[in-house]
Amino acid sequence: MPISAALGSDSDQVEHASPLDTARTASTRSAIPSVDTPVMRQYLEIKERYPDCILFFRLGDFYEMFFDDAVEASQLLDLTLTARDKQKEVPVPMCGVPYHAARGYIGRLIAQGKKVAICDQMEDARKAKKIVRRAVTQVVTPGVVLEEDQLEPKSSNYLCALCPGSGRTGLAYLDVSTGEFAACELPDGEALDELCRIEPAELLLVEDKTVRSDSRSVDWPAKIAQRMKVPTGTAQRTDPAADLAMLSELTSDGPQSAHALHEDPLLCAAAAACLRYARATQPTGGLPISTLRRYRPSDCMILDDATKTNLELLQTLVERKRQGSLLGVLDQTKTAMGGRLLRAWLLAPLLDLTLIGARHDAVEWLVDRQATRQSLREVLKGIHDIERLTGRLATLLATPRDLFSLGNSLRELPRLMDSLRAALSVPTESFPTELPALLSLGSDLAEDVAATIAHAIADNPPVQWRDGGFLRRGYHADLDELSDLSNGGKQHILRIEERERERTGISSLKVRYNKVFGYFIEITRSNLTKVPADYVRKQTTVNGERYVTDELAEYEAKVLHAEERRIELELQLYESLRSSLATQATRLLKLAQKVATLDVLCGLAELAHRSGYTRPTMTRELRIDIREGRHPVIEQLRERGTFVPNDTLLDPDGEQILVLTGPNMAGKSTVMRQVALLSILAQMGSFVPAARAELGLVDRVLTRVGASDNLSRGDSTFMVEMRETSNILAKATRRSLVVLDEIGRGTSTYDGLSIAWAVAEYLHDVSGCKTLFATHYHELTALAAARPRVRNAQVAIRQYQDEIVFLHKLLPGGANRSYGIEVARLAGLPAPLLSRAKEILRALEDQASSQGTSSLPAHGVPPLQSGQLSLLLGGPPLHAEPAQAKPASVKLPKHQQEVLDRLRHLDPEDLSPRAAHDLLRHLTAQLRAS
Ligand code: ADP
Repeated sequence: MPISAALGSDSDQVEHASPLDTARTASTRSAIPSVDTPVMRQYLEIKERYPDCILFFRLGDFYEMFFDDAVEASQLLDLTLTARDKQKEVPVPMCGVPYHAARGYIGRLIAQGKKVAICDQMEDARKAKKIVRRAVTQVVTPGVVLEEDQLEPKSSNYLCALCPGSGRTGLAYLDVSTGEFAACELPDGEALDELCRIEPAELLLVEDKTVRSDSRSVDWPAKIAQRMKVPTGTAQRTDPAADLAMLSELTSDGPQSAHALHEDPLLCAAAAACLRYARATQPTGGLPISTLRRYRPSDCMILDDATKTNLELLQTLVERKRQGSLLGVLDQTKTAMGGRLLRAWLLAPLLDLTLIGARHDAVEWLVDRQATRQSLREVLKGIHDIERLTGRLATLLATPRDLFSLGNSLRELPRLMDSLRAALSVPTESFPTELPALLSLGSDLAEDVAATIAHAIADNPPVQWRDGGFLRRGYHADLDELSDLSNGGKQHILRIEERERERTGISSLKVRYNKVFGYFIEITRSNLTKVPADYVRKQTTVNGERYVTDELAEYEAKVLHAEERRIELELQLYESLRSSLATQATRLLKLAQKVATLDVLCGLAELAHRSGYTRPTMTRELRIDIREGRHPVIEQLRERGTFVPNDTLLDPDGEQILVLTGPNMAGKSTVMRQVALLSILAQMGSFVPAARAELGLVDRVLTRVGASDNLSRGDSTFMVEMRETSNILAKATRRSLVVLDEIGRGTSTYDGLSIAWAVAEYLHDVSGCKTLFATHYHELTALAAARPRVRNAQVAIRQYQDEIVFLHKLLPGGANRSYGIEVARLAGLPAPLLSRAKEILRALEDQASSQGTSSLPAHGVPPLQSGQLSLLLGGPPLHAEPAQAKPASVKLPKHQQEVLDRLRHLDPEDLSPRAAHDLLRHLTAQLRAS
């Protein structure tokens, strides 16, 4: 029901049937106001300013929601919807949650893409002259979250803004929990890739009402937003001068920082929209943002969404789990900050040899110093999320427990320094004599902040801190005095209890306290006859009576007064402590980044040490030369030492395209992905699983693998496959690495083969990129003869009778059959079915050989007619290239053909070992003779 519909209703009684009622007591829940009361008018006024948020309105010990908010929240949170005046025409829907449980409920709403405005009481209800002053203290939205329990420790949480221009787009992203803030300007067509890398939790589309743009430029950001499936809102573009002024307050960082801001109006508009939106969510506190990093996406290796998914960089393809992904293997970090930084490094591998070298130097230094590494990791284990704790400090949301954690973590930092220093002072140390730059924590360890916190906050402060009791004794003399007074009063009350027990002879007599009656004496029913005359009866309960005395009332006033003043002073002192520490946020965040970097590098070194990774040689060349490379994830899943390493050489000037054939399960995908993963690992700063690797920088990894995950979007497998292929062809440069697994599978054999063939030619003739091309079309092996930079390779298997053994070894040359039946046998298909399949295969093979083609039919459809293959082989290059090699003839020499025919018609089951041996000798002699 809209709010306006309820205005004018005048009833004042509200029914409550919420399941939360068990937690509600008459003493703690305020009376529910009627619509035309001052409180309700206050509610409506505030709500009007936050129309797109669910308003949590503090009333006593509860946050209440009304009208449409109540209807929606009750559904999303499983709360019973209640209503005031059910009998009236327009009852007001409402629901509520106890204030101390609000965080959990807010978290659930945010996870469902909602925004919540938290409206608090800004003064003590008892002291308010008229109506209690209330105001929104925080707005929580999916992209602006500060509570630790609503955030993934090892993932950033970004609010992202897009400001489209004509052909170019401004993009900015901000994590308010850590203060990370970055922006760039990029071509429209690259915005989606960049957004996929960032994975925003919320998106803002900046609209410029003053510019009439064509429909395409209006549409595409909305389409992107739809594709991203994240909560999306719009923001109006404001005056560029105002944007500039706001951003100029921040320092600029990053390779593009020298650029004047006004030269990047779209970048400015996006960044300003992010900042303005985020600031509006914190009306009472600041944000931990001091720097805007300006970058170019093309300064890093580009990993688009398909590649991220196909290579299982962050999660596995099918189960979407972190375990089993590259990140799962890589992440040996000990802190949440380190975990987030590692993830960021993985998604943005570097293209600058100096920067990559600096990371490799640091990893190498740590690999060589095991004891230092262990002691650093031991200390890192005890360091909390300094970054997010600082974020909460800057926004003035930090609780005493947050400060306690922050202080403890900062106190650990000198121990990190000690470990590093100890390693440097070893006299036999030769190279490197200095600490690699990335490992240095600098000279400022914020020891003053740690000391201030240690002096102020007592050990293990309580979670419910608003009653005080967390500031250390000695921090403030007045506070200590008030505590003594209040404690002294409490002691005295205990003494009264003792004395009254003696005086009355009632051993069960108790002095107790509640919020309604204050201190009282409780006497059980059986002792009522012994109650002295000076006791004044206050209340009858099931078990007895409650009394007060003049003396008790007098001490109660003393105790409560002192207690009240103590709490007030303690909270005041805390607020000023927090505000003064908040001014140190920039320093603390810089320090946190250094700790995170150290943590990531220690983790990479640990992995390199444990798994036998080596430092790759990075070059500006285009060539990739890997010796004894291993797949970093599959190697871990297998028994130690059983992974078969492989050499791979790719070079746009020679071995540009590697066509991989061989049966399913042989290891084609593994070897292709491993090449891509090694490049990514090396460029993000890690060592690599290989005996030796010489790696030319790769600007993009593009992959086309399975399409099953995209089927849910309603596209056919083939459509998805072709769209991804087209994207690859459009984007690959000579510096790119392309992985194509089984292209053309989603359509008929002829279509598929033709497309696969033409794609390979295009990559060869036009793109010139390094390509790994796995295919089940054995016909494609003929391409090596038609194009100079195509090589064939196969993953070796050994066949024994009907069994095949996968050797997982990459060998030169193409495979000429797929061993589908043997693989099917391994998969447990029934024996009669397999025999029948063999019969059919043999018949088809006979048909093929009688028609004069040497290629095997695929998928049980008629084989290519003679002449078709030569048509493919003879196709002209798509681009003016140096003269190509002549088409190869696939007809084998007569002797070889005879040997093959003989073998083809042979059933090994019919041969005794002796006969098999004789036949083998005969055939090899025949081959040699030819
Ligand atoms: P294909 O792409 O040829 O069907 P995969 O690359 O998917 O085969 O490999 C199938 C399985 O073989 C993998 O899951 C892995 O267990 C194993 N495998 C692949 N390559 C190797 C290797 N080099 N060493 C050991 N096992 C391997």
